Amino acid sequence: MNKKVYVLAAGMLVATTFNAMAQKPEDTEVYTPVPSVVTPGASNSDAPSDAIVLFNGQNLGHWESVNKPGQPANWDVANGIMTVNKKGGNIQTKDKFEDYQLHIEWRIPADIEGEGQARGNSGLFLASIGNGDAGYELQILDSYKNKTYTNGQAGSLYKQGVPLVNPARMPGEWQSYDVIWTAPKFNEDSTLKSPAKVTVLFNGVLVQNDFILKGPTLYIGQPSYDKAAHGPSPIKLQAHGDASKPISFRNIWVRKL
Ligand code: MG
Repeated sequence: MNKKVYVLAAGMLVATTFNAMAQKPEDTEVYTPVPSVVTPGASNSDAPSDAIVLFNGQNLGHWESVNKPGQPANWDVANGIMTVNKKGGNIQTKDKFEDYQLHIEWRIPADIEGEGQARGNSGLFLASIGNGDAGYELQILDSYKNKTYTNGQAGSLYKQGVPLVNPARMPGEWQSYDVIWTAPKFNEDSTLKSPAKVTVLFNGVLVQNDFILKGPTLYIGQPSYDKAAHGPSPIKLQAHGDASKPISFRNIWVRKL
């Protein structure tokens, strides 16, 4: 080792030793605030202790009609599940939400008929921002060997986000969505501050990974946040107008973030 290299190496050793002496492991250990203790459900689909249970199989007390605000949701409840009443229209939560984690289970009838979008169509509107289908729709559809446009199959953010894979179960089986929703934020002048983001697991499989929405769902045209400014919003379920048999839901819970 020549003299110059030796001096450099010795200098680095001194610097490293000094650095290690100056910093301690506890310098990077965080003790407060302490995360809340939450009791998980017996299975990962059961509501944890800090969730709001939106449907527990008994009644629709957390829900109201969309088209007749303030009126009770009139979907059918029997045997611990709720079933879409197509004539009753969409229903939404009485509570409003901003960012949240949500679990929901849904079942396409075993004897479903129809094809494409007319086969077990419903939807989970992650934020309802008006009557009808206004809001941000995570599509619900029979996507077990049922061909349609890919940004309209189950697990899609309707007409915006194609699911990463298709983990759909066959009609008659219960399926689940686990959703992490980050609501869009708006400035006081109604311009967009930050867009909506969503992560979705479909039957436990990641299908949307921090997907950024271009705006509320549109059936026709390009989505945008123009005129979309809104605050905390209800969560909505769709009574789609197709002629196929109505689908059912169970075990719906949400955790505010
Ligand atoms: Mg739909």
